[in-house]
Amino acid sequence: MRKLTSPDVIKQILAESGFRFSKSLGQNFLIDDRVLDEMIAASGIDKTSNVLEIGPGFGTLTQRLCMSAGKVVSVEIDDTVIPILTENTAEFDNLKIINADIMKTDIRKLIDEEFGGGEVKVIANLPYYITTPIIMGLLEKELPMSALVVMIQKEVADRIAAKPSTKDYGALSVAVNFYCEPEVIVNVPPSSFIPQPKVSSSVIMLKMRKKPPVEVKDKKQYFTVVKAAFGQRRKTLPNALANSGAFPKDKQQIIEVLNSVGIDEKRRGETLTLQDFANIADKIFE
Ligand code: SAM
Repeated sequence: MRKLTSPDVIKQILAESGFRFSKSLGQNFLIDDRVLDEMIAASGIDKTSNVLEIGPGFGTLTQRLCMSAGKVVSVEIDDTVIPILTENTAEFDNLKIINADIMKTDIRKLIDEEFGGGEVKVIANLPYYITTPIIMGLLEKELPMSALVVMIQKEVADRIAAKPSTKDYGALSVAVNFYCEPEVIVNVPPSSFIPQPKVSSSVIMLKMRKKPPVEVKDKKQYFTVVKAAFGQRRKTLPNALANSGAFPKDKQQIIEVLNSVGIDEKRRGETLTLQDFANIADKIFE
């Protein structure tokens, strides 16, 4: 099996195949064994585990997943990668490679067909140009998924893991924390990739919650409040909510809602906890 964390091996593959990295597809391939070890260890996978990998590239993580997991399904958009990936993973009979765009893939159907609807873990070094839509898409679909262990931009990982009243706290922190408990596993420098990305990266683990940490009457309304509160960060909360036009209330009525749930009207969205958002959402649509 070719050692894909060796820059010399990567160079040899490039020379043999004529493959060119695509910047627009976010092709920065991982060449750091330590980070691969950390991802596998954090995921806790064993021979009973089902794994969905997004963007296998040449297969550096795929090889490790196949060694540890029961079954691995890897979805890769770039058809020029497929022959190289197929060769690099030829010895594994527990791998299915699907040449498709993950954004256009019916993931629930894939899980039904490939894993018999069983629980999966998503383990991937994600293409950074679609990090947030991939993560939010997976979470919102409420799939039979127990955890995600994904490499993403450090800046996005910091936003996901941020606590209220910190500079990184925002709609993404609230949205992701509604569905799962995030934990940053390891920070990864650009030198761990070939070619090197312009930004630092982090591996983050998102452990799915059995139920949301706050009870809300209506999930859609809850997320409407979150979006509106962070939509205009420099505005006070009543202004941000009133200006969003998302609620059947004027500014004065919104102030009354805030006061009725014990929230000072001078507070800003970034100081609100998930419970505060739930309290507002349950009242503001009344
Ligand atoms: N897993 C490899 C590794 O760790 O070295 C490659 C990771 S690279 C950051 C991202 C991979 O995602 C690339 O192979 C890229 O072609 C693929 N990709 C980009 N957009 C995609 C999409 N919409 N659907 C599926 N794969 C995609």
